[in-house]
Amino acid sequence: MTQYTPSRRHLLGAAASGIAAAPFLYGPATARNIAASAPPKAEGQPMPRGVRLPASPPPAPKGQSIGLAIVGLGGYALNQIMPRIAEADHCHLAAVVSGNAEKAATVAAAYGLPEDAIYSYDSYEEIAGDDRIDAVYVILPTGLHTEFVLKAFTAGKHVICEKPMALTSAECEDMIAAGKAADRKLMIGYRCHFEPYNLKAMELMREEALGPLRVIRTAHHYRSGPSTPATNWRHNRALAGGGPLEDYGLYGIQAGLYLSGEMPVRISASTQQPANDPRFAEIFAHTASQMIFPSGATSQHSTSYDGAGANMVTVRGQTGFLTMEPATGYGGHEMMLRKGRSTETLTPGNPSIQFAAMLDHFGLSVMEGTEILTPGEMGLRDTRLIEAIYRSAETGRTMALNPDATMTEG
Ligand code: NAD
Repeated sequence: MTQYTPSRRHLLGAAASGIAAAPFLYGPATARNIAASAPPKAEGQPMPRGVRLPASPPPAPKGQSIGLAIVGLGGYALNQIMPRIAEADHCHLAAVVSGNAEKAATVAAAYGLPEDAIYSYDSYEEIAGDDRIDAVYVILPTGLHTEFVLKAFTAGKHVICEKPMALTSAECEDMIAAGKAADRKLMIGYRCHFEPYNLKAMELMREEALGPLRVIRTAHHYRSGPSTPATNWRHNRALAGGGPLEDYGLYGIQAGLYLSGEMPVRISASTQQPANDPRFAEIFAHTASQMIFPSGATSQHSTSYDGAGANMVTVRGQTGFLTMEPATGYGGHEMMLRKGRSTETLTPGNPSIQFAAMLDHFGLSVMEGTEILTPGEMGLRDTRLIEAIYRSAETGRTMALNPDATMTEG
């Protein structure tokens, strides 16, 4: 096992700034970062804290809609997605898949599902014979996405898969190929593409409202509580990859892409993994990265599981400045446009419609055979960029990229 040793310059710099140098590993990824956890396995978990189940089952779907099986009854499924399905016109809840039979029964009863619409991870493949289910929505820890997406395609179902799509680009390629072979849709749950503030920002950028783009900056940080790879999947390499980048920082990478409208030609990055902190035994605590676009504009991203809360996107052009903070959450967005001496606060809509809008897009696309706005190919692209970020951090080199986000060299 090799560990990166801070150079004398790093140590002097740290000492001069009063920061203890010893507990941190700087810069390149280390062998310690890729220590193998146990292979990922779907396992039932308790009801997440703070879940509010509906007091009465939601009404039956109004018009033409597709039946969704929710796979994984965790915080995002129960607090965000399932309550919003009733707001969508073109999706309805048809089944749940869970490893915790008691939790699944409680949830199914609250949502008015019959007992035979409850599947376990072991009986999951039996959804093939259930015509009530048109599609599955995979909301499991990331390391389990591939297995459950591939099984869904084998069962002949369409798929929405939560972000990040998977932990490696090879897995993403397998998922895309399986979807094509089964002639089924594959969508990644990139909800910001359906959220009014981010849509407005995309429109402003398309109109060049800020003049030619100079720099995008994004920050996605929070402090995770005490945990270990065994107690929190987000800290477990086999289930979460490198940590905050895949989970939270991905929103910044996405914003850099959909606001610039460009693909990066180069990427540089660094990671930090504090020693002696059980939270970061297998994952990085912080990742910083920079994408350089063909136009010469850059997009700079920081993400952390041990930083004061931040959810911010700013865009600076030649003649204007746009700031969104919070930028990519479930609600509470704020947006300000500054040009010359004028400052305008923008309120383009209600951010909470993003969930139903995303579900409706998926439902319509399945029913009408139309293109998905956030397809598997987008998830693959982003996973390749994440791989380039980690490669740059590991080697200390700037990675050159092909237009499809693959690295020009290893
Ligand atoms: P969570 O920990 O709250 O829930 C995960 C659920 O997965 C568990 O409750 C359990 O039902 C199931 N599970 C099966 N096997 C498991 C295992 N071995 N370890 C832990 N859980 C296991 O996580 P979450 O926040 O709901 O995240 C689930 C997925 O949704 C992830 O891919 C995450 O990135 C994504 N997510 C997306 C958003 C968004 O805004 N788009 C927000 C949160 C989470």
